[in-house]
Amino acid sequence: TTQIIEGKISFKDVSFTYPDTGITALKNINFDLEKGQFIAIIGRTGSGKSTLANLIMRMYDVDSGAILIDEQELKTINLNNYRNQIGFVPQEVFLFSDTIKNNIAFGLSTVTDEEVERAATNAAVYNNIINFEKKFETMLGERGITLSGGQKQRVSIARALIKEPKILIFDDCLSAVDTKTEEEILNNLGRIMLGKTSIIVAHRISTIKNADKIIVLDQGMIIEQGTHQEL
Ligand code: ATP
Repeated sequence: TTQIIEGKISFKDVSFTYPDTGITALKNINFDLEKGQFIAIIGRTGSGKSTLANLIMRMYDVDSGAILIDEQELKTINLNNYRNQIGFVPQEVFLFSDTIKNNIAFGLSTVTDEEVERAATNAAVYNNIINFEKKFETMLGERGITLSGGQKQRVSIARALIKEPKILIFDDCLSAVDTKTEEEILNNLGRIMLGKTSIIVAHRISTIKNADKIIVLDQGMIIEQGTHQEL
């Protein structure tokens, strides 16, 4: 049976140390995110933003404290089932030597062309793709074309959006696109994010001004928490 994720996320006094380096990346992190809320994570380089995003994906288990998803401890939830319901855009985009269509539809067994095109539109990369001679059948990688950094990020965003996930995690994925493209993506996202819990690691104020909550990390700790107005 598939457990349906609603999207409430709680961090209860979470600490995490990377086992290989002994670096404590997060210390006593506490926050609650209701289903459908949008949280922005900001902070200096090395402050623990990616680690926090990766812990929600359960790339690692926490050392102490707990991450609760819909009030249930994350480590007790079936991992594949959970990850299938999360749209994760990692900081480092991973594309395959395959068609653009297959890169967007990655991991899904049945998708229609319309779904691929809609995801590309919402990720603001549709117009780039249809300008290629073979459009969505264009090969990427060694035997194909090389996309720009911003185009790669937007293909990666399309891959996350096509899953219609309950939870969206964007790890700094808007940094390689220009402000105009960012605005286009954010306009689309405003609609897409409705009803989805969203965690966005960001640098620009423009990205985070509509967040329900902003968390500022410094050396693995939350030093400020509030809305854009409050901070
Ligand atoms: P940036 O803005 O540069 O992406 P960040 O805020 O996302 O930084 P993290 O990547 O979470 O920060 O890193 C937090 C700390 O954990 C840093 O000291 C970093 O060196 C360390 N760290 C990150 N990833 C690993 C890893 N895979 N193994 C060991 N240590 C890591």
